[in-house]
Amino acid sequence: MSTGRPALEYEATIRGLRARLAEARAAGLTVGFVPTMGFLHAGHCSLVERARAENDVVVVSIFVNPLQFNPGEDLEDYPRDLDRDLETCAKAGADLVFVPDTQEMYPEPVATTVRLGTLADVLCGASRAGHFDGVATVVAKLFSIMGECSAYFGEKDFQQLTIVSRMAADLSLPVRVVGCGTVREPDGLALSSRNAYLSEAERSQAPVLRRALEAGAALVQSGETDPTAVEAEMASVIATAPLAEIDYTAAVPASTLTADGPLRGDVRLLAAVRFGKARLIDNIGCRAG
Ligand code: AMP
Repeated sequence: MSTGRPALEYEATIRGLRARLAEARAAGLTVGFVPTMGFLHAGHCSLVERARAENDVVVVSIFVNPLQFNPGEDLEDYPRDLDRDLETCAKAGADLVFVPDTQEMYPEPVATTVRLGTLADVLCGASRAGHFDGVATVVAKLFSIMGECSAYFGEKDFQQLTIVSRMAADLSLPVRVVGCGTVREPDGLALSSRNAYLSEAERSQAPVLRRALEAGAALVQSGETDPTAVEAEMASVIATAPLAEIDYTAAVPASTLTADGPLRGDVRLLAAVRFGKARLIDNIGCRAG
């Protein structure tokens, strides 16, 4: 069945992407942007669909950004399937897929990077030093290439969403950052490209992460305001899964992501858990006090 839109286009160069965007803007069209690292799933599709609903032109980028991987992390093994990703993008309603290679994005060793403040040192930043500086650097570069647009990010990576929103505001980048809800498997596991690493046994235990967050949220809703008690509750649920190794559980104010006394107002509960090779993260919002 025809969608009435032209077929998906593909662009590998910054110059080519800029030329296409200039044309779109000259025609008065609005632009939606979905940055990804590929190996797309229904979570990514939900961002593309939202961008489709809100913009005239939808651009998806696929780039596994070396700057955000530390030595020993899974840069080389990160799952990739470009042919399938292009099909997925077309089905979800993208107009243009930007697929630069590393040489195109970083022709020289980078001499300029974005250095973030304390938002990047906590939670995932504590165990992945420099990770968010790498994320912010590539996102700033992509925003600079894209120009004025709305950019769609998943709440699944809540710390990343918070950091990118702040960066766009702090640096007055011409980008409206839009947060989108997490898409899950029927058993509650958040979709993630890294779920591909899970063995059958690990996959069957992985939904414990979501159950732990729900138990934490129930405790907050019952009136608990001590972050340590909520964190311990989440950890105790995760501990029921023998293959789970906790990186962190956290109960923090949603805006600062850093504990500062009793919980009140908008709270975010977050956790990171290793199952074998896979490091899974998830989070949930609730209100305290
Ligand atoms: P990634 O390819 O993992 O870098 O993710 C690209 C974008 O998709 C990010 O904004 C993620 O937050 C978002 N995303 C990843 N998983 C999900 C999910 N399960 N639901 C909604 N958005 C997601």
